[in-house]
Amino acid sequence: MDFYGGHAVISIGHTHPHYVKKIEEQLEKIAFYSNSVKIRQQEELSQKLGELSGYNDYHLFLCNSGAEANENALKLSSFHTGRKKIIAFEKSFHGRTSLAVAATNDTSIQAAVNTTHDIIFLPLNDIGAFHEIPLHDVCAVIIEGIQGVAGIQTPTDEFLRSIRRKCDETGALLILDEVQSGYGRTGMFFAHQFANIRPDIITVAKGMGNGFPVAGVLIAPHIKAKHGMLGTTFGGGYLACAAAIAVLDVIKEERLIGNATNMGDYLMEEIKKMDGVKEVRGKGLMIGVEMHFNASALRNDLVFKHQIFTGSASNKNTVRLLPPLTITLAEADHFLKGFALALQPYLQSVSQ
Ligand code: PLP
Repeated sequence: MDFYGGHAVISIGHTHPHYVKKIEEQLEKIAFYSNSVKIRQQEELSQKLGELSGYNDYHLFLCNSGAEANENALKLSSFHTGRKKIIAFEKSFHGRTSLAVAATNDTSIQAAVNTTHDIIFLPLNDIGAFHEIPLHDVCAVIIEGIQGVAGIQTPTDEFLRSIRRKCDETGALLILDEVQSGYGRTGMFFAHQFANIRPDIITVAKGMGNGFPVAGVLIAPHIKAKHGMLGTTFGGGYLACAAAIAVLDVIKEERLIGNATNMGDYLMEEIKKMDGVKEVRGKGLMIGVEMHFNASALRNDLVFKHQIFTGSASNKNTVRLLPPLTITLAEADHFLKGFALALQPYLQSVSQ
């Protein structure tokens, strides 16, 4: 049972018939052409994404991975403002390309060439620390809708709103990295929508293609695109569009965003009742379960003894749950039963 979703990628379930059909049909016509021709499917994708997310006035730039989306978002904000300083947050993860990894708060994955960028890391949810930094020379503040690799840490609504206000006052752009927390996973299309703010740039990937490599940068209308500013060979090819359109169709038809709320609330309530659990964090189907002990062996038991695959986090006591948004009540119960059984030996060793 997949409670990791291939790192939050599997949004509509593996081999969904509509997804398979759309990709097969496209493959029989033409699989790829570059952006030197107009690809009608890009317009359909952009229109459907705008409608479902509530961002139909934003432009869409299509690329291939989360890191690439963030790299382009940061580059665009520097083009737009003419500035080069970036604010990011402690424990952030934005990808492994040059600027994206520089804005990732993990020196172990930064090579020397990645350390030349001008990045300031601030503590998440510390409004005081944020206000101490002047933004007049900052091109972008980049923040995850919910921090994933960090073990599901959520920025408060108040924190996001105060960043939005200060960006407005100073001309810095606000980039919301919704690569992991987007596409309905949290019970809203984007996690930041709980705070009722509108970022200047939003990045998406993972759940967008349900496994087909596709990513996007949503760009507010006030940022004027200039020809040649951003570019890509593979981004927005026919097959990628077919996969991404199929995902949006299924999310809408099967009301998967509502299902993420209902199943997520249920799972979190039930897990909170279990012994050995220190804290349950998250929204919808983006859940972090922090144990009183290192959870690595527990995760191994879950997969090898109970056939349930879960995720880890940078904090090793945390189990990350990122199941497909299609899960049913019976599947949630199956998980809960397996989790409770797998926990037993650890509770005995804790109480001895
Ligand atoms: N941003 C966030 C929040 C992520 O969780 C990830 C991947 O885990 C990325 C960016 C990078 O995405 P990709 O691995 O597709 O480059």
